[in-house]
Amino acid sequence: MKAEDHSDVIVYFKNQYVPLREANISILTHALHYGTGVFDGIRGYWESREKQLYLVRPMDHYRRWKAHSGIIRIGIGLEASELCEITTELIRRNHFESHVYVRPLAYKSAVRIGVNPDEQDAFAVMVIPFGDYLDSVHGLHAGVVSWRRIEDNAIPGRAKICGSYVNSALAGDEARRNGFDEAIFLTESGHVAEGATCNIFLMRGGKLITPCGSENILEGITRNCIAELAHNELHLEVVERPVDRSELYLADEIFFTGTAVEVAPVVRVDHRNIGSGTIGPVSAELRHLYLDATRGRMAAYRHWLMPAYETASTAPEEPQLVGVSDRDLWAV
Ligand code: PMP
Repeated sequence: MKAEDHSDVIVYFKNQYVPLREANISILTHALHYGTGVFDGIRGYWESREKQLYLVRPMDHYRRWKAHSGIIRIGIGLEASELCEITTELIRRNHFESHVYVRPLAYKSAVRIGVNPDEQDAFAVMVIPFGDYLDSVHGLHAGVVSWRRIEDNAIPGRAKICGSYVNSALAGDEARRNGFDEAIFLTESGHVAEGATCNIFLMRGGKLITPCGSENILEGITRNCIAELAHNELHLEVVERPVDRSELYLADEIFFTGTAVEVAPVVRVDHRNIGSGTIGPVSAELRHLYLDATRGRMAAYRHWLMPAYETASTAPEEPQLVGVSDRDLWAV
């Protein structure tokens, strides 16, 4: 299968397993015009030695997706456990032996003109092969953008509502056109919120600091994993509090977290070096720990993972190459 062409991939659409090329909706669909959809993103990591594909916290992702969908009154008539079964079934039907990205999408499906939503809802689950999202091996240069993070009382940013991603698209586009690798959003009151598609952490005064949930952030599942790893493995104090813009410039270390970006160290913000201007020790260690935990190499975090294949062999095998270039389409 070519990296760019996923038309043969089997997806779950209208309660059936069909090739992606057959999973089509009308051009008049409510969600397409008005942004009335809710999505999520889940990673699955292929471990070639175990011949197993591990989904990372799929139950938490599906519970979050159902809860977020409830905010715009989209009903998903299945339990999180049933959605996990659909996902593992998709992986098995597609015989994936590579890292994957899972994209559940629920949407207002009425085919008509008119903003007021009705009770017609639909959902789909897609799984595609997926590699790195951001190239952060040498650390990123992030820029504070002029767009402000959407307010909870406009469109709740804590939910992954399709329409709210115009905010992220504007920010990401501005940052990249201005030569940065990723955007940093401020809130209307001037506090640091997050990246365009990821949460942010700062090391300052020996503490790990991240903006609190009331700063219009998406309450990331990776953010939660990192807080747990930092506390349990590095014995760091993890503090959720409002963060000023100038604290970015004074931080010893900064990194982004997210399902797609994983742990991405930031070495420069707005043309100012962060710490020494190279990847800091805590960022490096947490990236390493997260990678190990999500590949099933840390017994204490195996409960985060759900194996997709029923039986795993221990036969060693070379890892498969995953060259996926359509990252902007899929990964948020
Ligand atoms: N913030 C935003 C705006 C996002 O889109 C994402 C990606 N889902 C995140 C943060 C990180 O969330 P998670 O760790 O759950 O992927």
